[in-house]
Amino acid sequence: MESILNQTKEKSASSLTPQQTRELVCELCRNFYNQGWASGTGGGISIKEGDKIYMAPSGVQKERLKPEDIFVLDAQGETLEEPGRGLKLSQCSPLFMHAYQIRNAGAVLHSHSLNAMMVTTQYNKHFRIRNMEMQKGVEGFGAFDTLEVPIIENTAYECDLADSLAEAIRNNPKSHAILVRRHGVYVWGKDWKQAKTHAECYDYLFEAAVRMKQLGMDPTV
Ligand code: ZN
Repeated sequence: MESILNQTKEKSASSLTPQQTRELVCELCRNFYNQGWASGTGGGISIKEGDKIYMAPSGVQKERLKPEDIFVLDAQGETLEEPGRGLKLSQCSPLFMHAYQIRNAGAVLHSHSLNAMMVTTQYNKHFRIRNMEMQKGVEGFGAFDTLEVPIIENTAYECDLADSLAEAIRNNPKSHAILVRRHGVYVWGKDWKQAKTHAECYDYLFEAAVRMKQLGMDPTV
């Protein structure tokens, strides 16, 4: 199968067929698994294409997903197509829907990255860093700005995070991500490419902050 990630500009997100979008969700899941963002069946991604949302199922090996395993929802979050075979819709579904509806996102992902988890042990209500070149990869930020990401408290069930996530999204209009304490991060973008770029830049910044703190440095100076 030809990699959709490696295709060039003429294959923009808006020109993807339903089958290509299903393949792209699988490919991104493999990519995120290989970075340690979706190990132990955690994490996930969804992509909005036209008026439909394509979402990986819950509690499965994210690196082994096939295009026919993907759920398709409408813009209100109602299931239009389900794979059957005992697969369940992602527990992240109501959380993803908030980013689609409140921020008009084109793709949302959830990562269990160790960097995202660790950084939530080092800050109270907001992750904060400044003067980092990689901040330029996050829309609305320059290299010399202070970049903030709100941190919400974890809950026993992922779906119970939905209300506090929605509140944090509304209260932090500049942020394209919400961290969850000792858990991971939700990240979105206007399309899948921007969501992926944001996720990579945020992850870099989380790791940088953790390492700076290990060295006794203040990441906000
Ligand atoms: Zn999670």
